[in-house]
This record gives sequence, structure tokens and C-alpha cells, in this order.
Amino acid sequence: MIRERGLISVEQYMGLCNALYYATRDPLGAAGDFTTAPEISQMFGEIVGAALADCWLRAGAPADAAFVELGPGRGTLATDALRVLRQAGFAGSVHFVETSPVLRDVQRKLHPDAEWHENLVTIPEGKPLLLVANEFIDALPIRQWIGTKERRILFEGERLEFDVNGAIREDSPARDCVAWEIGAQINLRGGVALIIDYGHVKSGLGDTLQAVGAHRYADVLANPGEQDLTAHVDFEALGRVAAVGKVEVSRAVNQGEWLERLGIGERAAGLAKAHPERAEDVAAERKRLCDPEEMGELFKVMAVHSRAWPAPAGFDG
Ligand code: SAH
Repeated sequence: MIRERGLISVEQYMGLCNALYYATRDPLGAAGDFTTAPEISQMFGEIVGAALADCWLRAGAPADAAFVELGPGRGTLATDALRVLRQAGFAGSVHFVETSPVLRDVQRKLHPDAEWHENLVTIPEGKPLLLVANEFIDALPIRQWIGTKERRILFEGERLEFDVNGAIREDSPARDCVAWEIGAQINLRGGVALIIDYGHVKSGLGDTLQAVGAHRYADVLANPGEQDLTAHVDFEALGRVAAVGKVEVSRAVNQGEWLERLGIGERAAGLAKAHPERAEDVAAERKRLCDPEEMGELFKVMAVHSRAWPAPAGFDG
């Protein structure tokens, strides 16, 4: 396409590369390109499940509520979260928004009764949502602007190059669209959403587009479609757009603080007691998820809930 058109935008490049990338592989785990929080520890999905279960119970435990995950990867987070939700009495249906046929197959093995969707609109009408999205938004394409000029990509001989460099501002119609849909659907159906990703609390300038392959940072313009392209999530923009749907939007809190407030310490102690041989591993997992130098500060959690539902725990203080 670049050869044909001469130039394409960063947004088109990121969208096309990631569509190919996710459609053709399972990128997660030691043999893949990157590892996510639910792949590090069962405690992550369990805490997500506990946060959703607590909210659902305080909302009066509506029997028709649905568990929804955007970009479920290997289905690990859903397994751990649903174990906790089921223990709390949740018996509702499971819905995955996933475009990758390869990952749908992986998810189907763990969740044979789930339903797959392209977006939230096709989830059966009227169901309140218990929704989670972890490291999903970061994969959606961004635009980059230098002043009023949108940054594009072209060939310089045989090499791809950016057409301009300078102070960069990022935005993302694709992310706005998802944020708007989450707000609108939560408002329409009732329920709660937890959005977890790496990014910043306030909008600002900066180039955050990055490529990761085989657990290393790589050149964004090398091997298009063969490495994971992501950009930091602008939680201020995400919250502002979700709020258009007349829902309550929490502030974005650090993942580490959120997990600690919701009792990852107690859960780690419980696991260590039940499996003494794993005590050191469990402590290391908690550290990786929560330490400010590891994932604890870079990753943020934001909640959206309908006005008739209670606010989820962990966002105060
Ligand atoms: N949430 C998982 C996986 C994160 S990887 C975890 O935490 O481990 C990103 C996930 O989003 C993958 O499942 C990928 O296939 C999916 N995805 C990426 N872009 C998407 C899009 N535009 N629509 C739907 N799913 C998408």
C-alpha cells in the first residue's frame, strides 16, 4: 500500500500491521512476543473477578448480567475472573470481543460456551455488563500529529521512514470509538467496566508508539505485521469520551495500588499457605504486578459504571 500510495498515515500503518499480527499468531507467553498481567499470575484475574463480583452483588445480583472481555488473549484472565464470579453466584453468559481467528480458537478451548463478537452492540439486548479490557486499548491504532500535520510513513529507498519528526501529539479515533461504545452500552444496559492498560493519567505531548518482538523493544518500522505495535493509553481522553454516555467514570489509579487495596496481599498469603513450595514465586508475581518499578505504576485502572450501579471498590483514597 505504501508503494502504491507513496505515503500512509501512522494510524493506517498501525491498524494494518496489528490486524495482520494478531490474525496470524498467539503472541503471548515465553515463546511469543510479550507477557501480560493475567499470564504472570492467577491473582490478577482473580482480583478483577472479585472487583466485578463485589459490584454485581451490591447491584442486587441481577441474574441476566453478562461477563464481557475485550481482547481476551489466551482466555486466562477470563478463567481466573470467572472462577471468582461463579463462586459468588454469578451464572450469566460469557461474551468475548475478539477479531483474531487464531486467538478465538485458543479461547474456545478454555471457554467452549462463550460467544464471540466484533463489538458490544451484538451482545443480547438488556443484559447488564460486567466488562474487562486488559491491554486491549493499547493495540488500537493512534494518529500522530506534529502541529497540524499528520505524521505519515514512506519509503526512503528500501527503508520505511517517517515523513516528519518533531514534537508529537497523539490521538485515536479507534480508541475514542471503543470508549464511546463502552460508555453508551454501560449507560443503556447498566453494569460496570474495568479498563486496564499502560499509559498516562493526563493528556500530553510525546511519541509513545512502540514495537515489541520476542520480549524486546524493536524498531517500529521494521518487519511490519510481524511485531506488536502499541502506544500508551491517554486515560484522560478515554474517560472524557466514555463520560459522553452519561456514566460515572473513575479516576485512573495505579495498578499496584488498586491490586493492593483489593487484597492481593491477602490472596498471596492464602496461596503461599496452600502451596508452600510456591511461596517465593507468588511473592515475585505480586511484586511484578504491583511494584512501582515494575508494572505497578505504569499500568493504570479506570472504571466506568452506570448511574444505577454502585461504584466499584479500589478507586478512593
Ligand atoms: N487481554 C489479554 C490479551 C492482550 S493482547 C491479556 O491481558 O493477556 C490484545 C488482545 O486484543 C488480543 O486478544 C488481540 O487479538 C485483541 N485485539 C487486538 N486488536 C483488536 C481489535 N481491533 N478488535 C478486537 N480485538 C482485538
